[in-house]
Amino acid sequence: MSALVLLILVIAVAAIALIGVSAALLVGRRRGRTAPPPSVPSAPIPAPPQATGEAAPQSSTGEAAAPAATLERPEAPASRLVRLRQRLAGSNNALGRGLLALISRDQLDEDTWEGIEDVLLTSDIGVGPTQELVESLRARLRVEGNTDARTVLREELVKLVDPTMDRRLQVSGADGDPGVVLVVGVNGAGKTTSVGKIARILVAEERTVILGAADTFRAAAAEQLGTWGERVGVEVVRGPEGSDPASVAFDAVKTGTEAGVDTVIVDTAGRLQNKAGLMDELGKVKRVIEKTAPVTETLLVLDATTGQNGLIQARVFSEAVNITGIVLTKLDGSAKGGIVVQVQRELGVPVKLVGLGEGPDDLAPFSPEAFVDALLG
Ligand code: GDP
Repeated sequence: MSALVLLILVIAVAAIALIGVSAALLVGRRRGRTAPPPSVPSAPIPAPPQATGEAAPQSSTGEAAAPAATLERPEAPASRLVRLRQRLAGSNNALGRGLLALISRDQLDEDTWEGIEDVLLTSDIGVGPTQELVESLRARLRVEGNTDARTVLREELVKLVDPTMDRRLQVSGADGDPGVVLVVGVNGAGKTTSVGKIARILVAEERTVILGAADTFRAAAAEQLGTWGERVGVEVVRGPEGSDPASVAFDAVKTGTEAGVDTVIVDTAGRLQNKAGLMDELGKVKRVIEKTAPVTETLLVLDATTGQNGLIQARVFSEAVNITGIVLTKLDGSAKGGIVVQVQRELGVPVKLVGLGEGPDDLAPFSPEAFVDALLG
């Protein structure tokens, strides 16, 4: 009897000991999960935008622009074109779908052709290009009929947007110099934002970049650019507020040359005081930069929602400096995609990049075919 009691006691003690040991192990493991060893990085790594295909949300208050503990990985340029379609289809329905509906009618009478002209004119495509397009559509549809009106319209629109223009950004220099991109345009057009976005495109292509904050008149501009640079690990050269923009531009290009970077992008002040003042200022910035390295690309940033006013400004800038490409911003908020055609005609230079929103990777290389496809939905 006592031997049995003893046996039960021994088993009970062994069971309690076993439960105790497993509980201790369990707690230990849980603790391990909540408190990783110090060598494991605890800062969250932001998901790269391309993982979702969505633009990272960014508010204009600069909320998303808080200094990042981890460098961001910008989206590769090619996949941005997918978004071009979505964004444009949303804001430019009237242009593409309206045209398609009119041109597919059984009877293409004079009223219908007038309707087509009206749609084109209200899309800011311009009077000359509207007439050209209507004439070529009339001629082709007379011969071919409108059973495949969409194909005819697509081909003629692509022709108008001009697929033969060279839209590559000249971001490389010669003889060991960095490529120098000078970015000009009126305040509010989206210049500083575009400089930041272009830096991200170049970083995504594994190029080394330095930014020059030569918009020394707007206090927030250098700050804003600093944040863009910080997020992707790009150095920003700046000067004191109100200092000479040309000297900041000079410093940036010199720093970039000495560091052997691939590209220096220089943001400039967008005060549109008068043509002579603008010419003096931009002329000086360019001259001073070119003491170190030639400017390889001069981009004019233009807000697509400003219509005729924007075109007038564009003309003033193009007289002040030799523009080699256009960055058309805020195309996401404009129902007037036709401005692409008009501004290219006016300035004789191609739209190279389009801004499609406020997200950090909402800037895409411009492609006439993708653009027209987006318009036609
Ligand atoms: P800057 O004065 O020319 O340097 O203009 P900013 O770069 O400061 O931009 C002015 C405003 O336009 C900011 O709120 C930007 O977020 C906004 N912006 C710039 N590009 C785009 C775009 O492509 N789409 C939209 N919706 N907003 C944009």
